[in-house]
Amino acid sequence: MNIIGIIVKKKNKRELSYAEIKYAVEGYISGDVKDYQMSALLMAICINGMTFEETCNLTDVMLKSGDILDFSDVKGVKIDKHSTGGVGDKVTIALGPIVSSLGVIFPKLSGRGLGHTGGTIDKLEAIPGFNVNMSEEFFHKSIEKIGMVVSAQTKNIVPADKKLYALRDVTGTVDSIPLIASSIMSKKLASGADIISLDVKVGSGAFMKNLDDARLLAETMVKIGKKYNKKVVAFLTNMEEPLGNNIGNSLEVIEAIETLKGNVDNDFSKLVIYFADHIISMAYDISMEEAHKKVMDSISSGKAFNKFKEFVVNQNGDVACILDTNKFKKSKYVVNVVSKEEGYLSTLDAFKIGLISSKLGAGRMSLDDEINHSVGIVLKKKVGDYVKKGDVILELHTDFENNDEHIEDVYNHISYSDKKVEKKLIYDVVM
Ligand code: URA
Repeated sequence: MNIIGIIVKKKNKRELSYAEIKYAVEGYISGDVKDYQMSALLMAICINGMTFEETCNLTDVMLKSGDILDFSDVKGVKIDKHSTGGVGDKVTIALGPIVSSLGVIFPKLSGRGLGHTGGTIDKLEAIPGFNVNMSEEFFHKSIEKIGMVVSAQTKNIVPADKKLYALRDVTGTVDSIPLIASSIMSKKLASGADIISLDVKVGSGAFMKNLDDARLLAETMVKIGKKYNKKVVAFLTNMEEPLGNNIGNSLEVIEAIETLKGNVDNDFSKLVIYFADHIISMAYDISMEEAHKKVMDSISSGKAFNKFKEFVVNQNGDVACILDTNKFKKSKYVVNVVSKEEGYLSTLDAFKIGLISSKLGAGRMSLDDEINHSVGIVLKKKVGDYVKKGDVILELHTDFENNDEHIEDVYNHISYSDKKVEKKLIYDVVM
């Protein structure tokens, strides 16, 4: 077997065997297969695709490249969730405490943000003192004690994905369904969960720009999970406009806290509750109605918020900020961007709004950029709302004195229509 033969086989649209995929991936990790050879193979996969069998085999080889976590000694159903990424996506921060307050174990490894999207780890670090770097022992003890923990990714989980993803990022080979499915599922299968919940975002702010591709990705991931005897659910959800009203690290934590207290009624809170209903229904084999009742009860009784407090204390975060969100450090300025037109808001481009927030300092353009936790954007209007001239569409929370460029950018990426635009939050559920 040699790598050139494997590349040529994929170039000629033939199916690779398990042994060939293993040879290529393990060779790439050890350095025997060079960057330029792996790039050629990835491009051939991007163009010619992979069969389901090949995608499963790639997932398995990647999964076995590192540690596979085992929480079988911890009582209770364990759940892991994944979002393919979007703008304003702070679901983990609210969903974790809700399901965990109902007895479901939530051990979560999360990532940092890059480009127009944010990352849960950056968001949680907006809470002063909050610690995301921990030993395996602390991680394990936390799920036994609190039922939930969120940690930055460790080096030992699917190291093949780290190396391959970095190469895909710079060779134009990210947007391939078999490569995305195997990348996500290898990490989820390594996380030791019984239930895997996948949020596949669709729209301008997402990897998947159209519903057909998103559905194929969701179906592929659900089928892979089932082969490993996991309960898997995938949601196809809207990412044409940002999720919720707040974008930016501390602003998103505040929106998650208010949701846990039952004070938010928007697309974000609806999505969190919908996901929680599904997870509780799957974890306890009960109907969606029964699960919904439990979820709403956990919020209205304060159980979900109390679990969040426990979680923050356990990870050394300053609970004073949680009890009084005015204590979060504020941006220097809040600048209103007002409507120049009248009509129904029809576009609030998630990708562009995410980029503006990143440019204000809430995100990073390259991996070593510093994050400013206080800045971001608060949407005062969402798609479908009627706006009059002079109404505030959004606030820029900024440390810049001059924001002309950002304001102009906002105007370039919103549009209006005479009729109210119908929008869907959840397109479909794949199980
Ligand atoms: N997210 C991942 O973890 N992997 C991909 O390939 C794309 C999105």
